Amino acid sequence: MAKIYTARYLLQADGRLLENAALLEDQGRILRIDQPAGLQREAPSANWVDYPDALILPTFINAHTHLELSFYPQWASAAGVGNASCNFVDWILRLVKVKRSLKPAQLDEAVSHGLQLSLQGGTAALGDILSRFEASSCYAASPLCGRVFLETLGQDRDLTQQLYKKLDKQLKTGKAGRFEQGVSPHSPYTIRPHYMRQLYERCRADGLACCTHIAESAAEVDFLDTGRGELVERFYTAINWHQHRPAARNIRPVDFLQQQEGLFANHLLVHGVQLTLPEIKLIANRGATLVLCPRSNAHLQVGTAPVAALKKAGVKLALGTDSLASNQSLSLWDEMAFAAQVYEDALSPLELLALATTEGAAALGLKGQLGDLQPGFRCSFQVVRPTSFAPAHLFLEQLIRAGQGLRPEAVVLDGQEVLSQVCA
Ligand SMILES: [Zn+2]
Repeated sequence: MAKIYTARYLLQADGRLLENAALLEDQGRILRIDQPAGLQREAPSANWVDYPDALILPTFINAHTHLELSFYPQWASAAGVGNASCNFVDWILRLVKVKRSLKPAQLDEAVSHGLQLSLQGGTAALGDILSRFEASSCYAASPLCGRVFLETLGQDRDLTQQLYKKLDKQLKTGKAGRFEQGVSPHSPYTIRPHYMRQLYERCRADGLACCTHIAESAAEVDFLDTGRGELVERFYTAINWHQHRPAARNIRPVDFLQQQEGLFANHLLVHGVQLTLPEIKLIANRGATLVLCPRSNAHLQVGTAPVAALKKAGVKLALGTDSLASNQSLSLWDEMAFAAQVYEDALSPLELLALATTEGAAALGLKGQLGDLQPGFRCSFQVVRPTSFAPAHLFLEQLIRAGQGLRPEAVVLDGQEVLSQVCA
């Protein structure tokens, strides 16, 4: 049965604000957007769902998360390490300590919890990193979709080949619920270069989506340049990787990826805080996407991504929250409000909305399906009720800047209201 959804306002991803508009849905797809009377004539027997004094807008796409860490604040507290903002390497050492205190099943519970938190923030699709492949079954029950990047890392040759076999076996299981499986070589400082190159070769050969943390901290830059610094002296020491201390490579992070043949279009590079202009141009040239995680960067005190230069070079961008190990929420409402401050001179409210919707959809291979309200798109939207509505010319700016803490009262995915269903 077709449905007609009405609200006081309907916002499309290009910033178009329609007052007293309605949306006609059938079989999970948007058929038409028009005035209510026009849709009534078109579908006289449709069911009506009205959200008076509310705003309908597209669901969000969170391009970078680690849902398996969604109980991190509780775990950190139990492990006695706290969760306050701190230096990057201090944070890694805490994370190692917390992960060592866990039983595997706790990661499974956290994935399910993270999926629910995401939905409660109006997010319909995710680019999620998963280190415990056994937890992939947790996605099956969720109405959310996107990509699960199977994380792998290691320095020992024999061990990494065992890990590769495990990864290969998991990839062959196909989709995890509505999530396509991809690969995540963790970062240049946690993987043997030969293994990294093998993983990128596999991704390119099989058309698999890929995700790598890159150019996040000054410590990483130091590691690749000098083979020394905090990551070697503190992190490698703490996990007994003494024998894997690298030589000085005198190389920048993106050049290192290039050396491993890791720059290609179906690749999400995450963070990019330390990027130089030549690296930015190289990313643009290869068509990879950079995922911005501004709140995580602030939490780990690594700096701010060079967004103006990225934009000018034409790098494809998306927005992610990263995990609850380095952020306070998994909500893109909160992330956009923060980004509006830190990237104030580089990104307009409309561009921020695009990062959270259409650009995120493109980054996860969902272009034309999710991230906008247009005929032919999947009927996926969120309903919010801000404390006030600004005049049209200020509407979007106020919505995003005041969006900190805003949560949808309903989320509809593929024509089904799922928020209450998942919260139950
Ligand atoms: Zn991450």
